[in-house]
Amino acid sequence: MTCREVVELMTDYLEGALSAEYRAKFEDHIAGCDGCRAYLSQLRTTRMVVGKLADEPIPANIEAELMKAFQDWSLAGQV
Ligand SMILES: [Zn+2]
Repeated sequence: MTCREVVELMTDYLEGALSAEYRAKFEDHIAGCDGCRAYLSQLRTTRMVVGKLADEPIPANIEAELMKAFQDWSLAGQV
């Protein structure tokens, strides 16, 4: 599985929507790929925080701010 495929499947993975076969391939890739692992944890945190804020759609500018903040954190944490 390529990084691109993994990134495309991340939302399904977090929602538990992957088949057992895909899930195994996905986790195989994550286990061996630092970039995808970092991205997955970032996405998971984003979904958690956004889910807590409101049921309403997040305004695009706030979402962009959040994503930027997470990027900064993960960059700082990955050194
Ligand atoms: Zn990867």
